[in-house]
Amino acid sequence: MVNAKSSNEDTGSHGGPGHENRFLRAPSDSCGNTEKTQTTSKEAIANTQPLGDFSLLPGLSSSCMATVPKQSLILSFEDARHRVEEQAAKLRPGGRERVELLDSAGRVLAEPILADRDFPPFPRAARDGYAVRSAVLASVPVTLEVIGEIKAGDEPKNIPAIGPGTTAAIMTGAAAPSGADAVVMVEYTTRKGSRVEIARSVGAGDNIVPTGSEARQGTILLEAGLRVDEAAIAVLASVGKNLVDVFRRPNVAILATGDEIVGIEAAPGPNQIRNSNSYSLAAQAHKAGAIPVVLPVAPDEAGRLRVLIEQGFESDMLLLSGGVSAGKYDLVEQVLTDLHAEFFFTGAQIQPGRPVVFGRTRGKFFFGLPGNPVSTMVTFELFARPVLDALSGMKPRALTFLRARLKSDIKTKTGLKRFLPAIVSGEFEAAEVELARWQGSGDIASTARANCYVVIPPDRERIPAGEWVPVLMR
Ligand code: AMP
Ligand code: MG
Repeated sequence: MVNAKSSNEDTGSHGGPGHENRFLRAPSDSCGNTEKTQTTSKEAIANTQPLGDFSLLPGLSSSCMATVPKQSLILSFEDARHRVEEQAAKLRPGGRERVELLDSAGRVLAEPILADRDFPPFPRAARDGYAVRSAVLASVPVTLEVIGEIKAGDEPKNIPAIGPGTTAAIMTGAAAPSGADAVVMVEYTTRKGSRVEIARSVGAGDNIVPTGSEARQGTILLEAGLRVDEAAIAVLASVGKNLVDVFRRPNVAILATGDEIVGIEAAPGPNQIRNSNSYSLAAQAHKAGAIPVVLPVAPDEAGRLRVLIEQGFESDMLLLSGGVSAGKYDLVEQVLTDLHAEFFFTGAQIQPGRPVVFGRTRGKFFFGLPGNPVSTMVTFELFARPVLDALSGMKPRALTFLRARLKSDIKTKTGLKRFLPAIVSGEFEAAEVELARWQGSGDIASTARANCYVVIPPDRERIPAGEWVPVLMR
């Protein structure tokens, strides 16, 4: 039996596990004030209390300290995801560039790829055997005269025409001769000198791929907006594209925040933490086809944070980690509000990652991802990807979960959709999944040993072993 951790995984340094209640955040007003709203249940919003004590940004007068309550925008996972997709759909990719065929792997096509000829360009034998006129094999066995042999690549002028009493040996990939409408597999034949006995009938068209049946010359083989994988590379090669037009890769600024966060080259003090989020995010952004631009770690101080956030908006998109929870020094939303940000949501009913923030300002999208390293990774996958895909010029794609059979019971709390690090194992069709034993959303080592996340709907308290559960593969 594996117990999922309770809902408060994103608390890290500012709260312990096991609390169903937590502070939901409201965006601060234009003066930089933030209202905190404590909930005692999903629905109930009570105990509104102002939170003072923020360092004022230069230029803000103290008269701005008046508190104006604002509604938090905490969405269900699905609504939050849809909101991201909606916004992403408005984006257009940057410029395009021409790259060599192999360098197009992982890039997004900026041009449709057309068939430069019919595919296949000739009626192609799909088996080794004998090219025949199928009608003569209505009743078998039949013995035919072998008038030649056709290899793949043979010139048309060297290929003999087939008549009712004749056949030619033919190899896979060779052009079927005129007069033949099928190929009998060699396994059903016995060669007897210049003749061959055929033991099985074939239907017209059997084992021959007709000219143009895969694609006619001039038709679109690949649409612009497709991310190039090995199958697309095969298509590009087959039409002779040694240079391919792809979209420019978007730049993604990555800004880790937190007074306790130090660079990986530094010797951390006793209460300091090495910055891992900038690196995991850079790896994820790179994997998603973007160019990560890692900024220096921002302290929990509004002035410096603002300078770095503004630097972040020089990129196509900004990813922040940390500073979006309910703590007194979680200043990210405040500073973004001061920069006139529009917030699409300020939280999602998920775990890990509940305090995730999505918004836009200066024509750029940003995500405030919770700082707990697993939350950062999960929320990137769940929310940042559609925006990156769109900036890369990719056609939108739905997020789909696969299923695996649960190995041991899961007990959890209701109210949040959970994405818990898990391990898919089992061979071939016997995929099984089991939660990784983790200590919460700071537990990167356990997450690193996992290879997926089990998705638990918010209304399930217990999922018995043997049930097929949705899985988000990593
Ligand atoms: P926050 O979201 O800022 O409240 O941070 C939540 C937890 O994540 C805290 O325990 C932080 O120390 C930790 N954390 C925040 N940022 C990073 C980072 N860049 N690398 C590693 N851990 C981090
Ligand atoms: Mg922090």
